[in-house]
Amino acid sequence: MFISEIRIPINRLKGAGKTTETLLAGMGIHTVGDLLCFWPRTWDDRTEFHTLNQFESRAKIQVKCTVIAHDWIGFGRMKTLKLIVEDETGRRAALPCFNRPFLEKQYQEGTKCVVYGSFYWKYGELQSTNFEIESGDENPSLARILPVYPLTEGLSQLKMRKLILTAVREYAKGISSELSEEIRREYKIPSKADIIFFMHTPKNIAETEKGRYAVIFEEFFFFEYALGKRSIERRGKLPCYENKTANDKETEIIFKPTGLQSVILQRLPFDLTQAQKKVITEINSNILSETSPMARLLQGDVGSGKTLVAFLAVAAVTAQKKQSALIVPTELLARQHAETAAAILEPAGIRIAFLSGNIKSAGRELLLKELKRGNIDFIIGTHALFSKDVEYNNLALVIIDEQHRFGVLQRAALIEKGRESSPEKRSPHLLMMSATPIPRTLALSVFGDLDVSTIYGSPPGRKPVITHLARKGNEQKVYDFVRREISAGHQAYFVYPLISTSENTALKSAEQMFRDLSGKFFPGIPSAIIHSKISEEEQRTIMRRFKAGEVKILVATSVIEVGVDIPNATCMVIEQAERFGLAALHQLRGRVGRGMDQSYCFLIYNDKLTEDGKARLKIMKETTDGFKIAEEDLKIRGPGEIAGIIQSGYSTFKNGDPVRDSAILNEARTAAFTLLEKEHFPQS
Ligand code: ADP
Ligand code: MG
Repeated sequence: MFISEIRIPINRLKGAGKTTETLLAGMGIHTVGDLLCFWPRTWDDRTEFHTLNQFESRAKIQVKCTVIAHDWIGFGRMKTLKLIVEDETGRRAALPCFNRPFLEKQYQEGTKCVVYGSFYWKYGELQSTNFEIESGDENPSLARILPVYPLTEGLSQLKMRKLILTAVREYAKGISSELSEEIRREYKIPSKADIIFFMHTPKNIAETEKGRYAVIFEEFFFFEYALGKRSIERRGKLPCYENKTANDKETEIIFKPTGLQSVILQRLPFDLTQAQKKVITEINSNILSETSPMARLLQGDVGSGKTLVAFLAVAAVTAQKKQSALIVPTELLARQHAETAAAILEPAGIRIAFLSGNIKSAGRELLLKELKRGNIDFIIGTHALFSKDVEYNNLALVIIDEQHRFGVLQRAALIEKGRESSPEKRSPHLLMMSATPIPRTLALSVFGDLDVSTIYGSPPGRKPVITHLARKGNEQKVYDFVRREISAGHQAYFVYPLISTSENTALKSAEQMFRDLSGKFFPGIPSAIIHSKISEEEQRTIMRRFKAGEVKILVATSVIEVGVDIPNATCMVIEQAERFGLAALHQLRGRVGRGMDQSYCFLIYNDKLTEDGKARLKIMKETTDGFKIAEEDLKIRGPGEIAGIIQSGYSTFKNGDPVRDSAILNEARTAAFTLLEKEHFPQS
């Protein structure tokens, strides 16, 4: 019998009354089966006993005691019982029983018991209030590793332990494993009965570790199995994860652009990189075959040239007389993409439109009409593209840039629009792009049923950005350097964590530093400020002037973090750099180093750095490899931004954590996919 088949109601267990039943139901536990897989949060190692004298040696001690007296605190209704206990050495302690009046009857004078808790001096006596107490003879769990369960109000740890113990004793033996013998042998997963014993009644810590590993493995295994199966059903194959494709000549591929793609490529001043060619080949094979819609994640470090890849995908779809949509997280980026698209795609006859949330209704109405009629091939915009009134003629390609900034539901909404507008009610091709590199292990789970293509490295001729760290107080040197770069015809960004300085903070802000930089440090050099509080129209004007080189210094907040592409800018100065996360620093640094000239990034930091802060800056100095940075980021601060990505779609795990347990996740996926291969493609 599987654990899920034990549908015996809780009240059939000895000691489970109506109240307990209701409390457990509130926690989603309805059957004995549910109870058996209600896993402990952690375990208390209670294999050792102590004396009261040792109360300062550890957070909690476990002492064998005898109740020698009852005492009372307060008067009348407020009266609280205080148990006076004595240990084997004759030392005494007081246990005030707040909210536990029932202890009076259970622990009468002379009762032998085991007390577990933290003790401290108060009012001249040794006290504990958070103690757990169990009487010697009926104690189910003396001298053991004790499970600690999540609780709910009204349900004590002891009660929970007793109930689960009863359930384990009565039912665990006969339970069979959901995993096959073969997989269990290969991945060293104990039998289901053993898992239950290891989790609820472990003999030692090693058993808890085995149990935990198994529980997490099982959870990941079934997740990955379901995901792989879905992929096989929808696309006839398991999702594949491409290895990094370096921009070297070794991996020569046969690149056959479509007619319209060739027209576009001929007009470009540069050649595609190997990695770009490879990805476009992969995309073309999806778009040109009629079998099943593409579902692909395109990962590529900042500046690796993803946009162009996306535009070429659009060309393939346009040639089929179908529509494409590109959705991006910010207005600024949407506009920039629209401008690039106009330069690259329009000459090839592709009709482009830009839809902003703010477009005045007259223009908007016309645009929407044309879109619906099919007179627009490619529409670019922010989440406005999801709006109800936006209807497509035949939307066959959905591209999502900086995809982690969108939720799963938004993604689904756009895909649904594609399906509705397609005559055959087909799902559109989906291309998601991300410059926040996801470590391989996580990409596997988070983007489980997608194909993943990776562009590794940047176009040839680019020199890696040189990063300098500067302690606060040495700004002058940095400013002098930037001044020389500007004299040489280049441009610079200055980035600050805040827009404006409120009175009680010592942090520099963009507004304050804009005044200082333009007035004091760089007088006469045209500069501008940009941040999220500035109107879109103004932002656009500023970016246009910066791009045209009229503005030399752009003071900003992290609004420029995504997408901004101005090859002539060679300096990125980030002050109070310790205030930014690694992902943000990497993205910001990615704004420079986009042209042929050597670029520089200056990270100015405060003296009082935390260990994490130090580690972040060190990594930034050491490497420009976004994948390495993402892995390191994971090490330093755990999930971070990546956890956000997971939460936006896949926060469905009860036991495992894809970040913390990524090694187990990998194993589980291998196991699940190997099984699927055997089931669906036995000969290969
Ligand atoms: P990201 O991957 O960060 O979105 P972009 O697509 O914005 O990067 O590309 C960065 C810059 O590199 C753009 O200015 C783009 O025109 C340029 N670029 C793209 N592909 C190539 C290439 N094969 N050779 C040279 N420059 C390229
Ligand atoms: Mg981009």
